[in-house]
Amino acid sequence: MKQKFIEFMRGRYGTDELNQLMSIVSLVFIIPTFITKQSLFVVLGYMLIGYTLFRMLSKDIPARARERAAFLQLKNKILRKNNATKQKIEQRKDYKFYRCPNCKKELRVPKKKGKVRITCPHCKTNFEKKT
Ligand SMILES: [Zn+2]
Repeated sequence: MKQKFIEFMRGRYGTDELNQLMSIVSLVFIIPTFITKQSLFVVLGYMLIGYTLFRMLSKDIPARARERAAFLQLKNKILRKNNATKQKIEQRKDYKFYRCPNCKKELRVPKKKGKVRITCPHCKTNFEKKT
């Protein structure tokens, strides 16, 4: 039986992080519908399971690998943005954050220094702010 399964999966994509996430999300969609009897989420859940199975059994490995790469890129982008926001919240006690009027990059300036002249390190624009 195990050998037959191994034989069946040969040349197929298998699973990855995207499939794992879609499996969890599909369960999140399906399980509450046993109580609420909402059919919309059940349909979404089964569609996700269907797509997960399609990806697992797919023999077009390069296409699945591209989907995985796009998923990981998006995931990393979200995690990086989350980290940056978290860091900014932690630093809010000691720093003020301004946007450069020219290039719109965010700049960090120490708090309670009075009126300061800020030079943007990216485009060298000068502007004054009270910290
Ligand atoms: Zn600038």
